[in-house]
Amino acid sequence: MNRVTAPMWEPQAETLPREQLAQRSIEGMRRTLGRALTKAAWRRRLGAVTPDDIRGHDDWARLPFLTKDELRDAYPFGLACVQPRRIVRVQMSSGTTGNPIINPYSRGDVEQWAAVMARCYLAAGVGRRDVVQITPSFGLFTGGFGFHYGAERIGAMVVPSGAGRTSLQLALMRDLGATALAAISTYPLRLIEVARAEGFDLRSLKLRVAILGSEMWSDDLRSYIERELALTAFDIIGMTETGGPGLGIDCPAREGIHVWEDHYFCEIVDPATGEPRADGNDGELVVSTLTREGLPLIRYRTHDVTRVVSREPCACGRTHLRLDRLHGRTDDMLIFRGVNFYPRQVESLLLKQPGAGPEYQLVLDRAPGGSDRLSLLLEVAEGFDPSGLGRLRSDLRQQLHLSPEITLLKAGELPRAPGKAVRVVDRRQAGE
Ligand code: ZN
Repeated sequence: MNRVTAPMWEPQAETLPREQLAQRSIEGMRRTLGRALTKAAWRRRLGAVTPDDIRGHDDWARLPFLTKDELRDAYPFGLACVQPRRIVRVQMSSGTTGNPIINPYSRGDVEQWAAVMARCYLAAGVGRRDVVQITPSFGLFTGGFGFHYGAERIGAMVVPSGAGRTSLQLALMRDLGATALAAISTYPLRLIEVARAEGFDLRSLKLRVAILGSEMWSDDLRSYIERELALTAFDIIGMTETGGPGLGIDCPAREGIHVWEDHYFCEIVDPATGEPRADGNDGELVVSTLTREGLPLIRYRTHDVTRVVSREPCACGRTHLRLDRLHGRTDDMLIFRGVNFYPRQVESLLLKQPGAGPEYQLVLDRAPGGSDRLSLLLEVAEGFDPSGLGRLRSDLRQQLHLSPEITLLKAGELPRAPGKAVRVVDRRQAGE
C-alpha cells in the first residue's frame, strides 16, 4: 500500500481502530434513540424499544426504516427533537412533489457541521493558507453554509461568492487568488464555458483543488474538469437530511469516500427488500446520525446507490469506512424497454468521444405509435468528427443495450438550469 500523506483535522478520531469506532457508533445509536424517544411522534414510529436494547449493530438493524415521505409529512417540525427555542437555524431541501424537508439545527448541530466539513477540507488538502471560493448558494440549500463553516473553522480565507454571476466568479478567482473551489458538481462546466465564450484565460487562475458534490458525476466528468481547470477534484457527499455536505469525502488515495463513522452509521440494503447487502455489492445507502440533535436520523433511506469499498485502513491513514462514489439514485434509475441504466453511465460513454459533451440531455417519451422512445440530445464542439458518433452508438448498444435517437447540438443550445443540471426529461407518464 502506497502511503499518501495528507494532514487531518482530528487525527485521533480519524484514525481510531475499527473496534473503537464500532463502540462509538453503538454509544451514538443509544444516545440518538434516547433523544428520539422523548418525542411522541418517534415513539409511535419505533414501538417498544429502549436504548439499552441496542447492544450491537444487529439490534439497530431491527429498527424500522425512516423514509423521505415520513420526513415530508413531518413538515415542519413533526420529528424535531429539540425545543423550538433551541433551534438556531433551519435548512431545507425541496423536492418536486409534496412538502419540503426541513432540518432544524441546534447550536451543537452547527458545530458538528463545521467540524465534519473541516475534516473534509483537510482530506482534500485544503488548509489555512488556502483561499476558498464558495459558489453554491447561501440560503435554505445546505451547500453554501456548510462549505463556509468548515472553511472558517480551518482558518482559510473565505470568498463567499454564492451562486451565479459566473463572469464575476472568474474575475474574483483570478484577482483574489482562489486556490480552492467549492461547488455543485456541474458548476465547473459553467466556469469553463463562460471562460471560453469571454476569452478568459483559465491559466491565470491559481486553483489547485475543487470540492464538488450534490449531483451524480461520473469519473469521466471528473477527469474532464480536472484537465480543463488544471486541479484535483474531490467528491463530497451529504444531504439536507444528514445535516448538509460533510457526511464524507474521498481522499488523495482515490479509493472510496470516507464516511465519518463517529458521526454517521451507514448500511447498504437491497432497495426492494431492505435486506443488507454484502460489502462490495451495490445497494441503497441507509444513514443513521450519531451526533445530530435537531433531526436525528434512524435508518434513513437516502435512495442513493453505492457499495462498501473497504473497511480496511486507507493509504491516507484514516480508518473510517469507504463507500464507492454514488452511482445513481434508486429513483433516477431509468428503465427503457426493460433495460435498466443510470444517466451517469451514458455520461461516461459520451465523454469518451473527443469533442462530445459534457452537456447532454436524455428525453424519454412515447413515439406516435405508442412505443417508448429514447432520445439523446448531445452538444458537440465545432469540427466534431462524425466517426465519433458511430463509436458512441456502438458503445451505447454494446455496453448499455441502448439505441437512442441522437441529435447533435451546437455548444450552448441546451437550456442551462440554475443550480443542478437537468439530464433527464421523462415524459412517458405525463401523457404528452
Ligand atoms: Zn483515505
